[in-house]
Amino acid sequence: MMKKVAIVNSKSFGKITDAYDELKKYFHVEFVNVPRDINGKALSEKLADFDFLVISATPYYSSDFFEYNQRISVIVRHGIGIDNVDVEAATIHGVLIVKVPGRYEREAVAEHTIGLIIAALRKIKDAHASLISGIWEDRIRYIGRELSSKTIGVIGFGNIGRRVAEILTKGFKARVIVYDPYVAAEEIKKEGAEPREFDELLAEADIITLHCPLITETKFLINKDSIQKMKENVIIINTARGQLIETKSLIDALIEKKIAYAALDVFEEEPIPPEHPLLKLDNVLLTPHIAAYTEESLIGMDKYVVKSLKDILNGIIPDGTVNVEVVGKSSRLAKILQK
Ligand code: NAD
Repeated sequence: MMKKVAIVNSKSFGKITDAYDELKKYFHVEFVNVPRDINGKALSEKLADFDFLVISATPYYSSDFFEYNQRISVIVRHGIGIDNVDVEAATIHGVLIVKVPGRYEREAVAEHTIGLIIAALRKIKDAHASLISGIWEDRIRYIGRELSSKTIGVIGFGNIGRRVAEILTKGFKARVIVYDPYVAAEEIKKEGAEPREFDELLAEADIITLHCPLITETKFLINKDSIQKMKENVIIINTARGQLIETKSLIDALIEKKIAYAALDVFEEEPIPPEHPLLKLDNVLLTPHIAAYTEESLIGMDKYVVKSLKDILNGIIPDGTVNVEVVGKSSRLAKILQK
């Protein structure tokens, strides 16, 4: 009998590819939508009939979910952020967690980041709005700043942060300073950037761009205190995760113009509520979590998800597995891998 796969809360899986049809050749496949804030027990009941999941950035797969669900053996994240999965609990309960390797989203997110930086520096959003409202003569208001003479602070020097730094240093000849406590100073220097402590980066950067994961130590990394340590007129870019920034403090700083501009693809609460105060500010540029949405990236992710599920049927552990220690210890996984 075919194994059952649920595609949970995904708006993009199979949207521009034949991934859904391809998956149906090997599995019984269903799209399932659940509330973003569903609790673990209710989520487990909703997905009780499935063997494998393909998941999106919501809902949260909590320890309760893994406690209650006795059947699911593999979860594949259609994306690279797995902050909505309690991986430790998954591992305890013998569930293999696979995510799309970083290479598939790297270019898309890095290029979106650069786009946001330039749009912020050159006030492109406002100039466009002014022009289409029939005002040409206002153009003196849109005097921008040049990227090549700026110091850009990159927080998180992994898959995406490195590529952003590479484009900025090699393409724009800009100066890049980096804070990443887990990457050696020599490695940062080798890539043409300069390592800094967190507070040093805050004090020196004209533009700060976030590329670290959302984990306990990075939640609200940008808060009232860290904002105080930044230069006047700084620009903040976030294409990583919304909860890296304490939104209330960001809004206060944007109103006071301590922060000149914020360009954000991700938000503390998603979707951002229509009445949210951020949406009422002029000095922001906001996109609805689309940094990874390019044809190239989605095609790569779809193919990887299909391939990884097929691999598992053939007893092969995908290279995007994040808790490989489960293999050999999980009886429910062993049953699948033996077939
Ligand atoms: P990655 O794991 O390759 O790199 C993250 C880097 O952050 C690592 O080098 C790590 O050492 C560093 N880091 C960890 N803790 C840190 C800390 N306290 N301070 C500074 N750096 C720290 O991840 P990636 O693939 O480059 O992804 C980066 C971010 O982009 C993640 O938050 C991910 O969720 C997000 N993302 C967003 C989108 C989108 O659509 N907007 C798409 C893909 C990824």
